[in-house]
Amino acid sequence: MRGIAILGSTGSIGKQAIEVIALHPDRFFVTALTAHKNAALLFEQVRALRPALAALTGVEGEVKIPEDLGFCEFRFGRKALEDIAAQAPGQDVLAAVVGVAGLKAVMAARKAGKRVLLANKETLVAGGEMVMNACPEGTLLPVDSEHSAIFQCLQGAGPNRFEQILLTASGGPFRTWDKEKIKSATVAQALGHPTWSMGAKITVDSASMFNKALEIIEAKWLFHARPEQIQVVVHPQSIVHSAVKFRDGAVIAQLGAPDMKVPILYAMSYPERLKTGGREMDLFQVGTLTFEKPDEEKFPALRMAYEALRQGGAACCVLNAANEEACYAFLKEKIPFGRIPQIVADTLQKHGSLPAKNLSDIDRADALARETARSLM
Ligand code: NDP
Ligand code: MG
Repeated sequence: MRGIAILGSTGSIGKQAIEVIALHPDRFFVTALTAHKNAALLFEQVRALRPALAALTGVEGEVKIPEDLGFCEFRFGRKALEDIAAQAPGQDVLAAVVGVAGLKAVMAARKAGKRVLLANKETLVAGGEMVMNACPEGTLLPVDSEHSAIFQCLQGAGPNRFEQILLTASGGPFRTWDKEKIKSATVAQALGHPTWSMGAKITVDSASMFNKALEIIEAKWLFHARPEQIQVVVHPQSIVHSAVKFRDGAVIAQLGAPDMKVPILYAMSYPERLKTGGREMDLFQVGTLTFEKPDEEKFPALRMAYEALRQGGAACCVLNAANEEACYAFLKEKIPFGRIPQIVADTLQKHGSLPAKNLSDIDRADALARETARSLM
């Protein structure tokens, strides 16, 4: 039995994690749950799963807890996320919160010796070097579908290093739009992802392709890849979840229906594979798989990821912070879609050379980037 703490249990990944855990009660149990503000759903989850700990991290001060939940200890406020990550009983912490808010919790989990199952890619983008230094082999398992795919492709590679990572991307809802039309896309259009159903932030990131930019950086850290070894491949069907190429030209890919339950459960049960209860891929129904080069003119986010990686230091943290600010401003209809990459580029230019040796460097770069990004709106 593995005990799992779910940070961000009320989100898209969190809810799917609960569904797969419910399929395997003989294998997993939930030790802790956190939501940011969604108290109603958190209470419902606590009632059903009976964790020892729970938190509402976006609520400072106490909230009235339903009487029947007296068996669970509730915490409140931002700091509760780190505390729960470190103190939850059990071995595993699933980091499924959105944004860089997850970074300190991941570090706290590692300090307490927990294995981290990482969906929260912003953590690795902002604090890549520091996080990887805290995560010896086997203590950080990817949940992001592409990175899980790469991880799966590398099982059985033995001493062979990959030559190239082929990081697939659906291309998002604006893949076939022209550059000018994309600039004035509405929130509803950006939220209409063709193949995946996800939280709002990652859905907008998929439309701007900042999601793929973050994933390039995530792949660099997780697989110790050089930036030039990572090739984004646009694959609109989202069936090939990524691939790796070896020295002899062999390409090993991982395929399946676009269903996050597969990578979520694989991280939990690794190296074993268990039933997810999800739909299975039918190659006859899929019929055709297509692949395209990404258009960096339409989606400058990709180029920015490589630039930030080359720059090193806190550049990726700055890219992430500026993108978070721009993404939420777009969701609140404060800026047009086309401003997102401009704001990130301008913020990167101003703060891209800051250092990122430790948590306080990263905090500072994150705060400065946010301030600048906001001032640009
Ligand atoms: P959602 O927006 O659906 O859920 C986010 C979760 O985090 C909710 O539980 C939310 O609580 C909580 N939360 C929000 N803001 C904060 C904060 N500042 N501090 C602590 N907790 C917070 O996101 P997703 O599930 O879509 O994504 C979660 C992470 O997983 C992201 O980093 C995303 O990039 C990554 N990911 C997601 C995929 C997907 O298919 N959804 C695929 C691959 C990666 P509340 O409900 O109370 O607001
Ligand atoms: Mg992904």
